[in-house]
Amino acid sequence: LTAPGAKFEMETVDIRGVPTRVWKNAPPSLRVLAQMVRAYGAREFTIYENERVTFEANYRATAHIARKLIEMGVGKGDRVALAMRNLPEWPAIFFAGVSIGAIMVPLNAWWTSGELEYAMKDSGAKLLFVDGERHERLKHCYAAAPDLERVVVSRAKGDLEAPAAALESLIGAVSDWTSLEDVGFPDADVAPDDDATIFYTSGTTGSPKGALGTHRNFVTNIMSSAYVAARTLLRRGDTPPAMPEPKVMLLVIPLFHVTACSAAMMGAVASGSTLVFMRKWDPELAMGIIQREKVNATGGVPTIAWQLLEHPARAKYDLSSLETIAYGGAPSAPELVKRIHQEFGALPANGWGMTETTATVTNHSGEDYLARPNSAGPPVAAADLKILSLEGESELPVGEVGELWARGPMIVKGYWNKPEATAETFVHGWVRTGDLARLDEEGFLFIVDRAKDIIIRGGENIYSSEVEDVLYAHPAVTDCALVGVPHRTLGEEPAAVVHLAPGKSATEAELQDWVRARLAGFKVPVQVRFVKDVLPRNANGKILKTELRALFAGEAVA
Ligand code: AMP
Repeated sequence: LTAPGAKFEMETVDIRGVPTRVWKNAPPSLRVLAQMVRAYGAREFTIYENERVTFEANYRATAHIARKLIEMGVGKGDRVALAMRNLPEWPAIFFAGVSIGAIMVPLNAWWTSGELEYAMKDSGAKLLFVDGERHERLKHCYAAAPDLERVVVSRAKGDLEAPAAALESLIGAVSDWTSLEDVGFPDADVAPDDDATIFYTSGTTGSPKGALGTHRNFVTNIMSSAYVAARTLLRRGDTPPAMPEPKVMLLVIPLFHVTACSAAMMGAVASGSTLVFMRKWDPELAMGIIQREKVNATGGVPTIAWQLLEHPARAKYDLSSLETIAYGGAPSAPELVKRIHQEFGALPANGWGMTETTATVTNHSGEDYLARPNSAGPPVAAADLKILSLEGESELPVGEVGELWARGPMIVKGYWNKPEATAETFVHGWVRTGDLARLDEEGFLFIVDRAKDIIIRGGENIYSSEVEDVLYAHPAVTDCALVGVPHRTLGEEPAAVVHLAPGKSATEAELQDWVRARLAGFKVPVQVRFVKDVLPRNANGKILKTELRALFAGEAVA
C-alpha cells in the first residue's frame, strides 16, 4: 500500500528456518524505537493523577535507567522482572531494559506472592523493579528466587534494606525527570530476532507459561496497526497523514498484559500519543478523566465498554471527545458494537490475538465492523490464518468450525524453558491457538469458543459465544456467560450466569424463552443463575468459567 505519507512494503526473510513475510521498512528494534520517540519532544507521553511526563523526559529517564542497568551488571539476554501497576515508570523501565538487549519480564501485578515467586524463579530474573506496594507484599520471598541479585523499588513505603534500593535514588522522582541530564543511550547491539520479552500467559488453567517474544514481534505490530489505520482512511477516500495523528488514550488494562504493552503502549510510542493511566478501574472516575483530558480512545476488553454504556451517571459527563472504543482479548457481542456506535457516536474496534502472538493478529474497525459485528476482523497484512480439524490433521473448508492456527512475524519464539509445550504449540512457524473459529470467504475471522469451553450436549456442539450473544441482546442483560453443567446421559447441558443492568429485571423463564425464540432448543440454558456483581474475570478480562461451573456443582446432574 502506497499513499502520500504511507509506504508499506513487505519482504520475505528466514526466521528460525521458516520463510516469513515481514514489514520491510519497520524499525529494526525496540531500541531504535525508544530513541525515535524523542522527536515528539514536549508532547505528553504519560499522565498519572497529577504527574505528566513528556516524551523528552521519558527519553532521558530511559537512557538513565539503561545506564544504571549496565552499572548493575545487566547485559544482553539477562532477565529483568517488572511488577508494577500502570505508572509512568513502567514504560521507561521497559524501554531501558530492551534497549540494552536485556529480556524484560512484565509480571502480573495482581498475582499473589506465591505466583510472583513462581515467575521470578521460572524466568531466572537477576533484577526486579517493583512498586512500593508490591515490595511490601513480595519482600519475604526474594530469598527464594535464586538468581535475584538486586531489587529496585519505586515509590517505596518506608526505609529499604539490601538488596533493595530506591529508583528515585538512582534517577530522581518522576516529577524531576524533565531536569535529568541528557546522557544518551549506552552502546548495545540489538538485532530484530533477539529476545526482548517474556510475558506470562494468563493461566486460566494450569501454571502460567512464559511466552518468549522478540524485537521483531513488537515492531511488526506497530507497522501492522499503522497499515490498518492508513488503509481505513484510504477506503473512506481520505488521505493518510504523513505522520499518524497523536491521540489521547485512557489505558485501563494493565501493561503486563501484551495487549496493553504491545498494542496500546507501542501504538502511543509510534504515533506520539498520550497514555492516561488510572490507579484502579472505576467507570465513573474514567468518565471524569475522559471529560478532563479529552480522551479520544479507550477500551481494552469488552466489559469496560459495557460498564461505560450502562453507567447511570453517564449523562453527567461530556464524552464527546471519544472517537474509538477498541477491545479484544475476550468475546464481544454484536449488541455492544451497535450500542457503542449509537450511544457514543464512537467507532468500535476489535482485534483477536493472544500472548503467544504479541497481541494483534486480526483488526476490525470502522464500517467493516458495523457490517460484520460478530467477527473479530480480517488478519493484519503480515499474518495468515487457517482452520484445522481438532486432531490437527486436515485444513477445513471456508465456513467450517475448527481450531484456529496463526502464522506471521508477530508469533513468539516459544515458551521459556518449556521445550515440550513449545513443540506442541508452535509448529513450522504456526501457533495452535486453542480457539474454535471459522473464516468466511473474505477471510474474516469468527471466534466461537475456547476449545476447552465448548459444551457438548449429547453429541451436539454448543458454542458459548452464540448463546451469550443472544443473551446480551436482551435489554436487561449486561454481563453473562454460558457454561456446561454435568448431565448423566447427555454428558453436559448449557447453563447461564447472568448479571442484570442496574434497575432492570428478568426471570429465568423469560431469558429461556428469549433464547428459545432465537436458537435451537438444545442451546437453551437449562438453568439461569443471577449474580449481583459483574462476572469474575482474571486481570486480563477473561471470564473465569471454572469458578462459574462451581456455582452449579452438585446440582445439575439429572
Ligand atoms: P491472552 O493470551 O491472555 O491474550 O488470551 C488469548 C485468548 O483470548 C485467545 O486465545 C482467545 O480465546 C481470547 N481472545 C482474544 N481476542 C479475542 C477476540 N477478539 N474475540 C474473542 N476472543 C478473543
